[in-house]
Amino acid sequence: MSPAPVRFHDPGTTRCSYRDSMLVRCPRCDRIAHFGAGGLICRSCGMCGPVAQCTWPALWLRGDTRHGELWAYDLEHLDLIRRFVAADLRERDPWYEHGRKMTVVGRLPAWVKSAKNRTEVLRVIDRMRASVIEG
Ligand SMILES: [Zn+2]
Repeated sequence: MSPAPVRFHDPGTTRCSYRDSMLVRCPRCDRIAHFGAGGLICRSCGMCGPVAQCTWPALWLRGDTRHGELWAYDLEHLDLIRRFVAADLRERDPWYEHGRKMTVVGRLPAWVKSAKNRTEVLRVIDRMRASVIEG
């Protein structure tokens, strides 16, 4: 008997879910910082406060693949992408097929979803996650 396929169910998370918990690069010390509605909080250099709209800090979780750049707002988002990429069966809610493809998973580019890129994408995701734990 073959092992049961790994299932993934899109929880329907949208971009707004991550607005208050983004991991970014601190504009002052270049280390990992948190960015949300209250502004930027950096535990490394103590920077704390709002940043101007035009100078939004860069996301911390970025990784290059041969096909394009992969990015995530935070570890939860990265984990969601990882589970999606690693899954054999991708389940969707019924509303999915009716034009509402605005979830963060639904918006992933085709090369992320492609099974032939799975190994490479998972490797980049693991490297991205490690950069947070080490940072
Ligand atoms: Zn800092």
